[in-house]
Amino acid sequence: MKVTLQNLTKIFPSRDKKSGKEVVAVSDFTFEIPDGKLIGLLGPSGCGKSTTLYMISGLQKPTSGRIFFGEDDVTELSTENRGIGLVFQNYALYPHMSVKQNILFPLQNLKGKDKMSKEEMLERALQAAKLVQIDELMDRKPSELSGGQQQRVAIARALVKMPRVLLLDEPLSNLDARLRLQTREEIRRIQKETGITTVFVTHDQEEAMSISDMIVVMKLGVVQQIGKPQEVYDDPINLFVAKFLGTPPINVFNGQIKDGKLYIGEDAVMDVTGAEDQAVTVGVRPEGFELAEDGKLTCSLSNVEVMGRDVSVVSTHEASANPVIRSIINADNKIDLSQEVVRFNLKPHKVFVFNAETEERLDVEVK
Ligand code: ADP
Ligand code: MG
Repeated sequence: MKVTLQNLTKIFPSRDKKSGKEVVAVSDFTFEIPDGKLIGLLGPSGCGKSTTLYMISGLQKPTSGRIFFGEDDVTELSTENRGIGLVFQNYALYPHMSVKQNILFPLQNLKGKDKMSKEEMLERALQAAKLVQIDELMDRKPSELSGGQQQRVAIARALVKMPRVLLLDEPLSNLDARLRLQTREEIRRIQKETGITTVFVTHDQEEAMSISDMIVVMKLGVVQQIGKPQEVYDDPINLFVAKFLGTPPINVFNGQIKDGKLYIGEDAVMDVTGAEDQAVTVGVRPEGFELAEDGKLTCSLSNVEVMGRDVSVVSTHEASANPVIRSIINADNKIDLSQEVVRFNLKPHKVFVFNAETEERLDVEVK
């Protein structure tokens, strides 16, 4: 099921009488979610992810704009009639019911032509339980399950009605790191097996990047960029997106374009074409540094952190916007910690140049 968001906007009235300022939680969001894809809705806390999801679900009514499932305009349709499955961060299972009863619950409430026989319901519940691999736990109570198992029950409950669209709001936040990793792979498998169009909300860029067909990066209610995870990472539209994606984060420097050269502080690090002389902000991905004795960027060496296959070279530079620079270098490189300086050359496709004021990416070529 294709899902179309058309100029979707949500404005909350002011809660603070004195300032009287309304909150634009989501602003003019337009996007066509392709059928059968998993979309990661990504951004810092408060950027409007949940509000977008609630509007798709029908739990919240847009201030303006429209929502289509396929060709159906569902904007005025109630949540029950949209054919969606919802999973929240806190699994919200019924504690007094068994796993089986929890999964059956949405089916038991079906009315009219959708009403099912007991056998049909049991069959469907078992199918959903098998899909998330909890069919052995059907008689347990939620309190007898681990967090990961509880979240699977919540997913099975969302899937049992065979929804047209699956909506997940930070579904992994309550799980520990290892389980989070495992469960996100599970979600991806289930999504691929069922082919249900899915919107996955998270503030965790790594999570979104790893499982999404496409990511939508939001900031203060405004969509910044939409694309395949790798494309957005490799080609960020502005400094916010560049900084939001990637661990360790991108290194940011105060720089300058002058006479065809890109400067970081006093260091002329690259040739640059396509822009006039101006102050710029330079972003360099951690994997964009190459050790070189005659390297053009001269930094003060602070530390070398072992990461196994790679090492993280920690250094400083007067033009760095962050306290330290982190560069990821293959562990085969031997770095003498007694040295005071470390010199790098930069890999052109890992260097982004932004307007120093607007923070928009400049369309320049660096070599
Ligand atoms: P996210 O899920 O990305 O953390 P939300 O969609 O929950 O963000 O919130 C977006 C913005 O809308 C925030 O500034 C939040 O305070 C505000 N907001 C959310 N729900 C309400 C509400 N019911 N009333 C007023 N403001 C709200
Ligand atoms: Mg939220």
